[in-house]
Amino acid sequence: MIIQLDSHISAPQLSALEEALNKIEYKTNRVTTQYADYIIGVGNKPFDIRSIGILPGVRDIHRVSDAYKLVSKKWRVEDTRISLGDGLEIGTGSFSIMAGPCSIESAAQVEETIAHLKAAGVRIMRGGVYKPRSSPYAFRGLGMEGLKLWHEKAREAGIKIITEVMMVEQIEPMLEYVDIFQVGARNSQNFNLLDALGQVDRPVLLKRGISGTIEELLQAAEYIFSNGNERIMLCERGIRSYEGAYRNTMDINAIAMLKAKTHLPVIADPSHGIGLRQFVDKIALASVMAGADGVIMEVHGQPEKAFSDGQQTLSYQEANRLYSRLRQAFELREQF
Ligand code: PEP
Ligand code: MN
Repeated sequence: MIIQLDSHISAPQLSALEEALNKIEYKTNRVTTQYADYIIGVGNKPFDIRSIGILPGVRDIHRVSDAYKLVSKKWRVEDTRISLGDGLEIGTGSFSIMAGPCSIESAAQVEETIAHLKAAGVRIMRGGVYKPRSSPYAFRGLGMEGLKLWHEKAREAGIKIITEVMMVEQIEPMLEYVDIFQVGARNSQNFNLLDALGQVDRPVLLKRGISGTIEELLQAAEYIFSNGNERIMLCERGIRSYEGAYRNTMDINAIAMLKAKTHLPVIADPSHGIGLRQFVDKIALASVMAGADGVIMEVHGQPEKAFSDGQQTLSYQEANRLYSRLRQAFELREQF
């Protein structure tokens, strides 16, 4: 059960409400976000929802018996749109493109990428400065130094930054340089990291785990929301399957299903989703048709020389062709 509280609920009203919930043997969890105050009730005794709904201090009450609650569409029918400032919004009704290299490599690469994005009208740049790599000997990112130089150039150009945070300790130093925190597939169920990201007022793009189910992804998002941060987007980036012909199996089904189950924006990552440059455009377009609110994709001036993930990275020319097709596909979808 989700109870949204009146913003000026009094202490006696709150105690009376908690007492009523105790009486029906519901465990209560208080959630305060940047936007509202809630009580999440967990229990399974049948009760008359009106008996709680009429109590003073209750603004709204909904029965949500799924394992995830606050991220469910069952109580918030209107989809969440996330504002990044400067008129930039992500969510139902618009299509967002986030593009950039897998890894931030140098100042020159950042400048070149920004010039490419500006010319294409793309306003959000992706790039890793802390890289989760399967091998400890692979390039692991430029760290804070890379983030700072990127930030300086991106600010000048009016470009927003999305980058991966791997550890709780990195959040605080990164905060002022980041517009969206990315949680990578390998950290999708790092509950300490999710708790901590729930306590900062920055949007979070949460990727699906390598072998994560949709239900696990939604519960991971619930961690962030229940810690106080409602600004979450979910990302389908392919899952591990028995198929070895490509890097991951992009679960297009999940995009359609997530849009039905949650009010949060859903973003597709076709680059990691298939892991092969030649097919990224097709998978990206399929994701639009399945209902994605945006894509995050890897681009590089010389993909074959990229420090990481070159095999799935598009050249600027290939990316330009895809941006325009994605925009056309979105227009078409919105007419259906
Ligand atoms: C990335 O975005 O470069 C990345 C490492 O993604 P994922 O966590 O989905 O593998
Ligand atoms: Mn990558």
